[in-house]
Amino acid sequence: MKNHYKNEKISKYIEGAAMNSVYYRSTRSDKIRITSGEAILKGLAPDGGLFVPSRIPTLDEIKENMLRCGFAGADRCQSREDFMKLLSALDYRELAFEVLRVFFTDYSDDELKDCVKKAYDKKFDTDMIAPLVKKDGRYYLELFHGETIAFKDMALSLLPHLMTAAAKKNGIKEELVILTATSGDTGKAALAGFSDVPGTKIIVFYPKNGVSPIQEKLMLSSRGKNTLVVGIEGNFDDAQNGVKEIFSDKELGKKLLERGYRFSSANSINIGRLIPQVVYYIWAYLRLIAQGEIQAGESVNVTVPTGNFGNILAGSYAKKMGVPIETLICASNENKVLFDFFGTGQYDKNRRFILTASPSMDILISSNLERLIFEAVGEDPERCLLLMSSLKKTGRYELTPEEKKTLGGFIGGWTDEKGTLDEIKRVFQTSGYVLDTHTAVASSVARRAASGDADMLSALPANPGLSMIVISTASPYKFTGSVLSAIEETCQAEDDFAAIGELSRITGTPIPKAVADIKNAPVLHSMVCGALDMREAVTGFLK
Ligand SMILES: *Cc1c(COP(=O)(O)O)cnc(C)c1O
Repeated sequence: MKNHYKNEKISKYIEGAAMNSVYYRSTRSDKIRITSGEAILKGLAPDGGLFVPSRIPTLDEIKENMLRCGFAGADRCQSREDFMKLLSALDYRELAFEVLRVFFTDYSDDELKDCVKKAYDKKFDTDMIAPLVKKDGRYYLELFHGETIAFKDMALSLLPHLMTAAAKKNGIKEELVILTATSGDTGKAALAGFSDVPGTKIIVFYPKNGVSPIQEKLMLSSRGKNTLVVGIEGNFDDAQNGVKEIFSDKELGKKLLERGYRFSSANSINIGRLIPQVVYYIWAYLRLIAQGEIQAGESVNVTVPTGNFGNILAGSYAKKMGVPIETLICASNENKVLFDFFGTGQYDKNRRFILTASPSMDILISSNLERLIFEAVGEDPERCLLLMSSLKKTGRYELTPEEKKTLGGFIGGWTDEKGTLDEIKRVFQTSGYVLDTHTAVASSVARRAASGDADMLSALPANPGLSMIVISTASPYKFTGSVLSAIEETCQAEDDFAAIGELSRITGTPIPKAVADIKNAPVLHSMVCGALDMREAVTGFLK
């Protein structure tokens, strides 16, 4: 990172001062107030709630930090627009540092710089980290240039470093052991993030016969000496239940603590995954300025392919910080719980679970939505707890009309399976750009929203004509089979690996290195166990 600061000592002074500090509280009770480092280590609040920042810091606070530290040019920024222009000259790492620093106020500048430097390095196949490309009249923010070519790399490459720094500063001596159950994608992204990070071990369980050959090969070829990948004889629920039981086994926890290990979790409700995602929304807006597409201060709309609601929630945090995002459009596939929710104010997961071509969005309980609900109920933890208990007991809850009104900045939209594949084909034919299935769901919604077509939308955006950013969450090479069949209906590749070559040939796009490498990568993990033997697998690894 370049050093724009004239005076490092001033920066040190700010670290010591608690003036602008942000702490973290639970969505389900008023009792807990902890630092971001502690929240990152804990993952979930002890009352079952999610950690939320005590307040959302603003772009002005970023400016104040930069001013106080003598950042070249900050003193000449008269307006918010001037400041955004200044920010648009930062690279991704520099911006990430400035954003994290106003949320994670208990970390020192040096700690955060170090985390950012380790996260966004050569693991990404472009120095831009997250390029914004203009295609077919929209702007696609490509979040798939990390190691597992999907957006979870954006946060999971940073989280391990945030965790180990937090452990250090909180006097935790034990090694952190990340336990994860995966249905395919998150497991590999977590493995990649934690691989050979000192002070951590990671254990991933997946359903032996429930992931794609490419997903399996990606996991089994994980190199890190601190990694263990285990296939279980059972489905994803068995894996997830097994992990939950291990987590809640106090005896086992105590035994492992004596051996010098402490369990931790890297799942998507961790605040250490949410906040790093705020960065790329600000980044996308700044790219529009830097690329001369908009004037600083102009409003934009953003469409996000959504499952667990983590990605789009980060977008709403960026908006609160002062990024001029007018409408956040939440795009769902046929599992359109969220579309219904934004239309009616009623969340109801009692419906058939549909397997789609965008599997990472096949979700009926969007856990991160709880953080938005907390805001909608006026940050009243008792009311939030009531709604979440209702979700657990009956599978549904309903906001009051007043509560629903607070969600005005969001609209819901969805795309069916045919619409998803049609969108891939359409965008490829008009612009030669290849979308993955998840991005295609969002792209289809975005296109209809921008053209004022209210079909399959809970409402039209307040201003459909604004520049539209579509969050692009995976490389088309991650879901090659579906993408290929969308573009070339007659094309039948023998298997996923053959499809990769075929897709590259037909579209003239290069095969990402991560995918090219896996076919010949050696298999380094071979453990398979029964769903009831997961505990033994864990204790065996943590000798
Ligand atoms: C996880 C994932 C999503 C959904 O993101 P959420 O934060 O869960 O809403 C969308 N697309 C891809 C490719 C993903 O991996």
